[in-house]
Amino acid sequence: MVPTRPLSEVVSEFCGHALLLRMVRIHVVIGGVGRLVPLLVLLSALSSPLAAEDPSLIISRFQEYLRINTAQPKPNYRQAADFILAQASSIPLESKSFEFVDGKPVVILKWPGTNPRLPSVMLYSHTDVVPVEQSKWDHPAFGAHVDQEGRIFARGSQDMKCVGMQHLEAVRQLKRSGFEPVRTVYIVFSPDEEIGGHDGAGKLAESEVLREMNVGVVLDEGLASPNEKYRAFYGERSPWWLVIKATGAPGHGAKLYDNAAPENLFKSIETIWRFRTSQFDMVKAGLKAEGEVISVNMAFLKAGTPSPTGFVMNLQPSEAEAGFDVRVPPIADPVSLERRIAEEWAPISRNMTFELKQKIAVHDHHGKPIITATDSSNPWWALLEEGVRKANGLIGKPEIFPASTDCRYFRLLGLPAIGFSPMANTPILLHDHNEHLDKAEYLKGIKVFESIIKTYTSFVGDSSKESFRDEL
Ligand SMILES: [Zn+2]
Repeated sequence: MVPTRPLSEVVSEFCGHALLLRMVRIHVVIGGVGRLVPLLVLLSALSSPLAAEDPSLIISRFQEYLRINTAQPKPNYRQAADFILAQASSIPLESKSFEFVDGKPVVILKWPGTNPRLPSVMLYSHTDVVPVEQSKWDHPAFGAHVDQEGRIFARGSQDMKCVGMQHLEAVRQLKRSGFEPVRTVYIVFSPDEEIGGHDGAGKLAESEVLREMNVGVVLDEGLASPNEKYRAFYGERSPWWLVIKATGAPGHGAKLYDNAAPENLFKSIETIWRFRTSQFDMVKAGLKAEGEVISVNMAFLKAGTPSPTGFVMNLQPSEAEAGFDVRVPPIADPVSLERRIAEEWAPISRNMTFELKQKIAVHDHHGKPIITATDSSNPWWALLEEGVRKANGLIGKPEIFPASTDCRYFRLLGLPAIGFSPMANTPILLHDHNEHLDKAEYLKGIKVFESIIKTYTSFVGDSSKESFRDEL
């Protein structure tokens, strides 16, 4: 399914298909009313509403997707893409698979809207999952076993094969019901999110393909909610990977002296831990949500002089290092955090240096926090709430995602991107052993997406305000 023709040709053919359909309709109309009537009868017969599908078939399609092993570091992307493309043709939906990087397909399905000039709705999910420690699972991680309580066990059942399939099933059901979207819907399946998304969402975001899709809003992943309210995310914390290093005079293990490297490092670790505690206390006290504070966790600690039996024990080392995973919310001040690192966590006065091995931007090119608006300036937020409400669902207040998702690539372009995985009354088990999702909750999520897609694709707002933001 990989295009052998120039990408631009394939893209414009794919994205211009709706225009072709419009031209056919115009041609029929000018051909005379006499010919139009039988055609309309035929069309209405073809699009007449069908009864809802047997839920066991819907669950078995979900199981089929879960059984494809797309765990990093060797995801079977080919099998996943073939499965998605087969689903698309059974609905039917137009489909294309783009390989911006060899062996890493981005599969895009299209449901053309009646007004292709309006910005489209992009339903986005990633196809890869994190690895498993099978011995810690009660069921095979790629078996999609359903237990007596109706829980489906599989890696990806929450993160996020559930959402990708719910997008597909919602569109399948809406098409069966005869619903016609005004806006075009794209369902996108992308690789590599679990390893940073550079070859998936990153490449898509900078491509002509995305530009041609004229996206108005992106729905990507959220998190399960342990209570009855769904969660929706408008921003996420940026990962900073910090390594601090202390140096000092080496010395005999028996000697007491000031400013040895381990001593200097431990002073810093104490300072960092006090900061960590102050942030965590605000979460524990209920003053802030997890995504609203700066988290700091130690990733490694390195010092000592190796020997054949372990470490030289009568020597104080001249270097000591520690690594931290720091997560910075978009509402924090990155400049003051960096000053804190330089002045308090790795001060030169204590022979300390630091390096940020990774530093994902907290602000955009204009110096503004990379977030999606949740007020009246962004109609998509209120429409999401409306869609959920119409499906008899409840939704909590907007949150910041504590870790990273592919949303950041789209938010950086200025596109509204909302993290939303409809899983209420569900323990948060992404990346955990025994990841599972209740069958009924999965089916309910499809209904919620049907309602959201209806609400989104029927919305005809002021399209001049929602064109692709070129200036960024
Ligand atoms: Zn995910």
